[in-house]
Amino acid sequence: MERTHEVFNQPLPLFGNNLFSGNQALRDALRFNAPALPTDELHRLGEQVGTADIQTHARLANVHTPRLLTHDRFGHRVDQVEFHPSYHALLDLAVSSGLHGAPWAEGAHAHVRRAAGFMLFTELEPSTLCPISMSYAVTPALQGNAALAAEWGPKLTQRSYDPRFAPASQKAGVTMGMGMTEKQGGSDVRANTTQAHFDGRDAWGERYALVGHKWFFSAPMCDAFLVLAQAPAGLSCFFLPRWLPDGKVNAIHIQRLKDKLGNKANASSEIEFHGAQAWLVGEEGRGVPQILEMGTMTRLDCALGSSGLMRQALSLALNHTAQRQAFGKALIAQPLMRNVLADLALESEAATALSLRLARAFDKPGDAHESLMARLLTPVAKYWVCKRGSHFAQEAMECLGGNGYVEENGEGVMARIYREMPLNSIWEGAGNIMALDLLRALRKGGAIADALMAELAPVRGAHAAFDRFVDSLPQRVDDANAETDARRLAQDVALAVQAALLRQHAPDFVFDAFCRSRLGGDWGQAFGTLGAGTDFDSIIARAMPQ
Ligand SMILES: Cc1cc2nc3c(=O)[nH]c(=O)nc-3n(C[C@H](O)[C@H](O)[C@H](O)COP(=O)(O)OP(=O)(O)OC[C@H]3O[C@@H](n4cnc5c(N)ncnc54)[C@H](O)[C@@H]3O)c2cc1C
Repeated sequence: MERTHEVFNQPLPLFGNNLFSGNQALRDALRFNAPALPTDELHRLGEQVGTADIQTHARLANVHTPRLLTHDRFGHRVDQVEFHPSYHALLDLAVSSGLHGAPWAEGAHAHVRRAAGFMLFTELEPSTLCPISMSYAVTPALQGNAALAAEWGPKLTQRSYDPRFAPASQKAGVTMGMGMTEKQGGSDVRANTTQAHFDGRDAWGERYALVGHKWFFSAPMCDAFLVLAQAPAGLSCFFLPRWLPDGKVNAIHIQRLKDKLGNKANASSEIEFHGAQAWLVGEEGRGVPQILEMGTMTRLDCALGSSGLMRQALSLALNHTAQRQAFGKALIAQPLMRNVLADLALESEAATALSLRLARAFDKPGDAHESLMARLLTPVAKYWVCKRGSHFAQEAMECLGGNGYVEENGEGVMARIYREMPLNSIWEGAGNIMALDLLRALRKGGAIADALMAELAPVRGAHAAFDRFVDSLPQRVDDANAETDARRLAQDVALAVQAALLRQHAPDFVFDAFCRSRLGGDWGQAFGTLGAGTDFDSIIARAMPQ
């Protein structure tokens, strides 16, 4: 047989590098937000998530997707989801790394530590982080029922993953999910029709029987959930366990698993409540603010997740273009490709900076400025970082040419990133809902606007474009009434805060390029349109995954 050709000029995949030590932008942001934080654990995790073995688990968990088992062979309902062993290996790593509820039991900088770990894990596999994120987020909302918080709170912080479908009393560690969205309304949960009928009192407080459905109900194999349902006094928040205290399985029927664009390793289900028992959390009729305490934390995770995916996509693009030759040079040496890569690097670093800054706000719950920043930056970061994600993923994919678009049995990680990206923008409050939430926060009075200006103050005078941009903000914040302008305002608050952070923990060449492009208008409408005076070499060298 004649040989038709040799395979050459095909880059080697990116395996075996430490995702933490190779991420200069993350390490600098971490030093700024948590100077005293020991980083040994993050170094360890960075190494673990970079290995070929664990990345094979990520591939397998996405190729062998979850399977719903509704009944056993005798016709009894079982309502379970079967996962590939690789899914459990990933969950085990995430829980043992303390990415779920662990920070609630830890000391200083626990939320920033966990946020950095969450970003690193996202580079391994984002969809398994859905139950991890919900298990992290639930603790503040669960405080609305002291008995449940006392019994379940400590188990949520345990670094112990137990995948068995078994009562929580038999487990050292548990996971939790949330159910708000129904067919007729997700953003507007006031439209929920699930009914809660009072059913008595016991050690967990006021017990209700739920009748109704949820249209999106992710990670249904969690041990318990917070859900919304209509009680006599209005929409209320309930704790819904899979197993009841008497050892019986709760009446939650899993109807179907969603056939999704991405997020393949995670099971997202449709369910019905057939008189399922649930316990009131918080006051009857105050369900929305109660469950939004959970929503605030999952929104942080959406921003962290998109930042992690951006970093991963950038690393893959840098790895590929450094090895691939075209027109006589490595792609990374071609001037126009350098513009694309540098522009992506700026966006990725700015996303990391904003998301980690938001995480810092949760490390100081009693601090007035930090509480205001948590309120302001949660919708801003969730809106802007997630909104940029899909565009970013498309450009990073294009750097790999045709290979970027190919999955090949799950090996094409860029395609997985691209399919995952829109999700962080949609769930936990889609883009418009976040922009409107920012307006709601600003309308509450001057304190938040003052906090924003205080946050930006240390950087005044550092760059003419920054000053001009920030000068216009107070008036726009004061006029923050027009819903039609809400997206623009969310975008501009995000850009101003990102610039201020880059000034404080990134080199000048990053800050300058960011201000000139994003704030000063020396930029196009696609990535790769930075001005000619940009220090491309330094920006790309900083972003290289070492
Ligand atoms: C994979 C996946 C998993 C999910 N898992 C869960 C889960 O575990 N638990 C759960 O409760 N939910 C879950 N969801 C649901 C998700 O949170 C909702 O889809 C989301 O909140 C949007 O609600 P909706 O689909 O009903 O869209 P709608 O509420 O109909 O919104 C549609 C669009 O209209 C916009 N919009 C709404 N109101 C306004 C307004 N006043 N002004 C301007 N624009 C507006 C929204 O921004 C959105 O873009 C999941 C979704 C997905 C895709």
